[in-house]
Amino acid sequence: MKNTLLNRKTIFSKARRIVVKVGSAVLTSSDQGLDQDRIERLAADVSTIMGQGRQVILVSSGAIAAGLAKLGLKKTRGMPLSLKQAAASIGQSSLMWMYEKTFGAHGHKVAQVLLTREDLSNRTRFLNARNTLQTLLDYGVVPVINENDTVSVDEIKFGDNDNLSGMVVHLTDADLLVILSDIDGLYTADPKFDPSAELIPLVEKITAEIERGAGDAQSAVGTGGMRSKIITAKKVGAYGAPLVIVNGKKNGVLPALFEGKEVGTLFLPKPVKQDSRKHWIAYTVTSAGRLVIDDGGREALVNKGKSLLPGGIVKVEGNFKIGDCVTCVDRAGAAFARGLVKYSASELELIKGLKTSQISSVLGHKDYDEVIHRDDMVIL
Ligand code: GLU
Repeated sequence: MKNTLLNRKTIFSKARRIVVKVGSAVLTSSDQGLDQDRIERLAADVSTIMGQGRQVILVSSGAIAAGLAKLGLKKTRGMPLSLKQAAASIGQSSLMWMYEKTFGAHGHKVAQVLLTREDLSNRTRFLNARNTLQTLLDYGVVPVINENDTVSVDEIKFGDNDNLSGMVVHLTDADLLVILSDIDGLYTADPKFDPSAELIPLVEKITAEIERGAGDAQSAVGTGGMRSKIITAKKVGAYGAPLVIVNGKKNGVLPALFEGKEVGTLFLPKPVKQDSRKHWIAYTVTSAGRLVIDDGGREALVNKGKSLLPGGIVKVEGNFKIGDCVTCVDRAGAAFARGLVKYSASELELIKGLKTSQISSVLGHKDYDEVIHRDDMVIL
């Protein structure tokens, strides 16, 4: 217990740049749309921690829920995507207006930033977004980020705002991710069904058991469940940032956290922070295809630190271009690496299984020996 408190105290007192993710279930009250009182409390709590010299980036859901309430509708399974997208565009402006007012009351300016997965998957756009956010923070403005739902269809979505907030930690090089949920944290069982369920205050390592136990429980309005929060904890943990899940419906929970109080569930990060570009390859960029690698090739990549050569490739899947990210899988289909390719799918189709000395006679050119250079590869 002593160690837990010690860890907490240092993590929270040292954190300067914080991503705060707030879910729809916290911001909206059943079918009434946005809960103004809750948002006022949130603005007050964020202002308190900003007053301690911290920078806050808000990742806010609630657009779809707010928009649907305005239309007099409830979110249902199977609701057409275009209706959710229309609701998002109605709700997003209400959401921003509410933040504008409530943060303004504390002397803070806010800025709307809508992102799509494609924006972060493209390295140039990723770096542009990073510069914009940095400038907003330099001017003391609170960026309010959401997914650009009106143009995102399911296949290209972040999935949910838990995932988006994890990517924002990397994008802004933040020290900590706080997820404001409608539950106190991670429990040993689902507290809605099991009265003996206990809150887990600290997760030092995300084991398979923790992942399995998390379940997919979702609220009526949110998209993510506990599982998506745990996957996010893993992602930000690899980037050296801790994640804490707390109950955003409780007033003063943010200031309490930074006073070192033991609330919520804290996930400790990995001791060694992954390089930013490698983290982007591992977690942010979308994979455009798969390469099935034979056992010798897999061994060379995973245990010998080698680059991927054409000889190890058994099968090419997808229609990717030079520079795209692909996933390397073994013959059983298990993914073990990701990396940026130096040859396109159609070129690889011709040179797979061949020696590097054969590349130029088959393709008529040879720009590289490697298909994926070690520097552009991450072992998963
Ligand atoms: N972007 C969605 C919204 O603002 C929320 C997605 C989520 O809750 O994960 O309504």
